[in-house]
Amino acid sequence: MAKFEYAPAPESRAVVDLAPSYGLFINGEFTESQGGSAFKTVNPATEEVLSEVTDASAADVDRAVAAARRAYNGAWGRMSGADRGKYLFRIARILQERAREFAVLETLDNGKPIKESRDVDVPLAAAHFFYHAGWADKLEYAGLGTNPRAHGVVGQVIPWNFPLLMLAWKIAPALATGNTVVLKPAETTPLTALLFADVVQQADLPPGVVNIVTGAGATGQAIVDHPDIDKLAFTGSTGVGKMIARSIAGTRKKATLELGGKAANIIFEDAAIDQAVEGIVNGIFFNQGHVCCAGSRLLVQENIAADVERRLKRRLETLRVGDPLDKNTDVGAINSKAQLSRITELTDAGEAEGAERWDNGCELPAKGFWFRPTVFTGVSQTHRIAQEEIFGPVLSVLTFRTPQEAVAKANNTPYGLSAGVWTEKGSRILWMADQLRAGVVWANTFNKFDPTSPFGGYKESGYGREGGRHGLSAYVTTESNG
Ligand code: NAD
Ligand code: MG
Repeated sequence: MAKFEYAPAPESRAVVDLAPSYGLFINGEFTESQGGSAFKTVNPATEEVLSEVTDASAADVDRAVAAARRAYNGAWGRMSGADRGKYLFRIARILQERAREFAVLETLDNGKPIKESRDVDVPLAAAHFFYHAGWADKLEYAGLGTNPRAHGVVGQVIPWNFPLLMLAWKIAPALATGNTVVLKPAETTPLTALLFADVVQQADLPPGVVNIVTGAGATGQAIVDHPDIDKLAFTGSTGVGKMIARSIAGTRKKATLELGGKAANIIFEDAAIDQAVEGIVNGIFFNQGHVCCAGSRLLVQENIAADVERRLKRRLETLRVGDPLDKNTDVGAINSKAQLSRITELTDAGEAEGAERWDNGCELPAKGFWFRPTVFTGVSQTHRIAQEEIFGPVLSVLTFRTPQEAVAKANNTPYGLSAGVWTEKGSRILWMADQLRAGVVWANTFNKFDPTSPFGGYKESGYGREGGRHGLSAYVTTESNG
């Protein structure tokens, strides 16, 4: 199919002011590490080193937790909800004012297309602060229980796929409910969290309320194991989530775990096919498929499967893969070399196990980490590509004949984070939503996020919810829930 040739439309990176190296944000200021080392963060689209950040030591984590404890025992712990709300509103407005800077920096450090960081990540991050600002003085009326109170110091560890947005999902509810925070961003995407530290200073938040420590798994583990942490909030892989659950078992620490997924996107014969094709594309190729709730398993009713497959492939041939800073780019770079090898390993396994592999044949840049939008057909439920999370731009297609079979196949997974249902029939949507073991079920849409709507999983996708009133409840204790 003919593809329009677009002239390059690169977003300028002049708006971003990168330091050659960064310390840790503890007690309201940037400080040097005590005993930690340094590591580089790169732009995955070019392999260019962007900056050097600190690999925080256990002693650094200890200082950050101590600062958070002092802030909690001090002014922040005594502040009224109405006053806390003012700080959250201020942060939300600053994020909006500095939106371009955040979007460009996120795209540089993560590899996601600028049109997504600009139109999704950053506006949604601001929306989470606005939404939670509104709750700060209304917690008693939120139906959470009697006399909701903060836990105290919250440790938060986040992944690399939505760095600023995951930070917002974590920090906004924690602050709205009066907790203080020690947050660790992922090792490949620390830069927007460090820029957020600048926002915290600009908003004049009392020192120690938000602390940002960079580092890898060991730094995360030091947060998890720290005895003065009251609550943990983790988003990341199921493997690490299980380790965290084991290491806090028997302690008084509370935890929410937002883990992996292998969502079914289910297309019935009566669905509006062209809209469904757009939903399939958005479901798995948005953010290079680095999305925990991605619609990575397509379940199509058998009698329309050939038609859907044909239209889907035609559509995928129009996707623009390349420079993430180009405003026309649809699919950017894979976040890291390690993630690229994982995708390569699993797709090779898909071929070896007998599924039929197709990709859109687009040209890929010579430098950086890239993977073509890929579709596997003839996938059976036992194939690794139908069972394991690939976390990349790879779709596995399966078919079904009856709604019962669709439900059985959709639920045949250790995960249970999300699902999509495409049909013209309202009663079927409700029936399916009732049967699917998934925390979020989208109907005739996919990957829609809103701060008012709780998000979270069943089974190995974790426990706890983020967003909405449900998300708030994880950050408070009440007289009814202890
Ligand atoms: P990961 O679990 O390797 O890393 C996530 C974070 O945990 C990083 O900050 C990392 O440094 C830290 N970490 C690693 N080992 C640790 C340890 N032993 N103790 C404490 N912290 C540790 O996952 P990833 O590769 O960065 O992210 C991809 C995974 O995250 C996917 O499985 C995806 O589905 C999941 N994810 C889930 C959600 C959700 O909301 N459910 C959202 C985004 C990503
Ligand atoms: Mg990076």
